[in-house]
Amino acid sequence: MSRERVSCSIMEDGNRDKSRKRQPKIVIIGGGIAGLAAGKYLELEGFTDYVVLEASDRIGGRIWSVPVDNNGHKAEMGANWIHGIKHNPIYKLADENNLLTEREVHLNSKNIYLTESGEPIHEGTVKKVDFAYGTMLSSCEEYFLSPNQVDVNDSLGSELDRLIDEKLENTAGEERHMLELVYHQRRLLECCISGCDSLYDVSLSQFGSYKELPGRHLVIPRGFSAILDIVREGITEEKIKLNTAVRKIHWGDVATMPGGTQCSEDMVCVECENGDIYYADHVIVTVSLGVLKANCDRMFNPALPQKKIEAINNLGFGVVNKVILVFDGPLVEQHVNRIHLAWDPSVNNTENLRERWFRKMYALEVIHDNVLVGWLSGTEALFLETLTDEEVMQDMEKVVRMFLQSQSQSIPNLTKVIRTSWGHNKFTRGSYSFVAVGASQEDILNLKHPLIKNLQDNTKKPVVLFAGEATHPSFYSTTHGALLTGNREAARICKFWKPQEAALGRYADLGLSDAETTEEDVSSEDEGLSFP
Ligand SMILES: Cc1cc2nc3c(=O)[nH]c(=O)nc-3n(C[C@H](O)[C@H](O)[C@H](O)COP(=O)(O)OP(=O)(O)OC[C@H]3O[C@@H](n4cnc5c(N)ncnc54)[C@H](O)[C@@H]3O)c2cc1C
Repeated sequence: MSRERVSCSIMEDGNRDKSRKRQPKIVIIGGGIAGLAAGKYLELEGFTDYVVLEASDRIGGRIWSVPVDNNGHKAEMGANWIHGIKHNPIYKLADENNLLTEREVHLNSKNIYLTESGEPIHEGTVKKVDFAYGTMLSSCEEYFLSPNQVDVNDSLGSELDRLIDEKLENTAGEERHMLELVYHQRRLLECCISGCDSLYDVSLSQFGSYKELPGRHLVIPRGFSAILDIVREGITEEKIKLNTAVRKIHWGDVATMPGGTQCSEDMVCVECENGDIYYADHVIVTVSLGVLKANCDRMFNPALPQKKIEAINNLGFGVVNKVILVFDGPLVEQHVNRIHLAWDPSVNNTENLRERWFRKMYALEVIHDNVLVGWLSGTEALFLETLTDEEVMQDMEKVVRMFLQSQSQSIPNLTKVIRTSWGHNKFTRGSYSFVAVGASQEDILNLKHPLIKNLQDNTKKPVVLFAGEATHPSFYSTTHGALLTGNREAARICKFWKPQEAALGRYADLGLSDAETTEEDVSSEDEGLSFP
């Protein structure tokens, strides 16, 4: 397709008035929550000459609520919980906009623990594991504050092995077996929380870098996507270009940009798959770490600085998928909101994934009377993406019958299966990030640092900025983390264009909520990665 200059103010003129009195032109790549938050922040600051380029045919990225029936019930393909209340900007938005009115329903909810032969696990056993496992995780988190005590190559998995073995040392027989089943279930859950294939992939010394926000974990009954409607308020339709995948970001010498001689030295050129070309003062890249891993070698001209490439390679980005099961009747007694699956790790370790992919699933959430959602991660989650709906239905029917055989006389029929395929989704290439063995906070900082052009007047202009969940040092893998990074990078641009206001402290927290004030002051730390 021939390259076109599309009629949009951002593209009309690549030359900028260096007095910083005009409107800067800004391109935001990605219409997930980070990209939309950045757009909203700019809009509120009076910077209106921006576009959001979104590769897919919808906004939201990894926030995606879908209908499961004709009664208005929704299920989440991506983000599900608001993780914590205090200082959580997503909670604030949801609460202020009355999206949580049905949350009381969950106060009475209960969890059940079943073995694969349908036997309930004794409450005492579960409590014992809960207590011990909580203490183990806390002790693993503490290494973040004293990293010298462990090697960068130590994993969360091997430390948990050691701690669990220690705990079970004096226990034998059936009691030990049941405790092992619950510990195994906790590990499967942790794989989904961390978004990894195995806990041996997760860095022990960095495990404590993730900060849990205080308070409960809540769902949005109307669907998580309702948050997007609030965040995007004020961003007009024409500013969001759907089906517009970015192919390349030219951030170096203008002479090497397509049609570059028309734009001034400090501009960036964004080339789209459909042939559209945008010139901008700033480009905020919010694509997932998975997309950066897959495409960064061909997405940037010139290539990214080595430190950023290393950060992209070092950090982990795993696959977590969900299987949504719709039945023709209710499955369990009222108020049960989760069926924990206590698989026996000593059986069925066959190489054949078809026979065991579902054994990675840690629980079935009861999201409506007749709708269950299973979560699983890693190799097995990727394998799920290769199965047909009929195969998933056959396997999951078997799983539900195994676990629920003693709970209900007759199990309703499974009528529909919806499953996610985040691994093969070329605009995500996985689910969320974690700090992998060998990686560190420094990698997250290198990932978030902007690319800087040194201007003739010695000003350092951040021309390519990086937002998205993986760029948040302590809230990576979450929606609140993603939103805060969108604010952060938009604020960085505001700071550049409104230096007087910045000097008065207006962007001192770079658009971050109280929750992130512990992060280092970006103005001193963020020299960025300079070009040339
Ligand atoms: C299964 C699953 C469960 C989750 N559960 C939770 C949860 O319970 N709670 C929670 O807080 N978080 C959860 N998360 C994480 C949360 O969804 C993400 O952290 C957050 O939505 C990421 O937002 P983002 O804007 O950084 O990235 P994205 O949402 O991925 O947005 C990036 C956008 O960039 C677009 N894009 C990609 N390539 C290009 C290109 N070349 N050109 C233009 N556009 C492009 C993509 O289409 C996408 O829309 C979950 C995620 C998944 C997958």
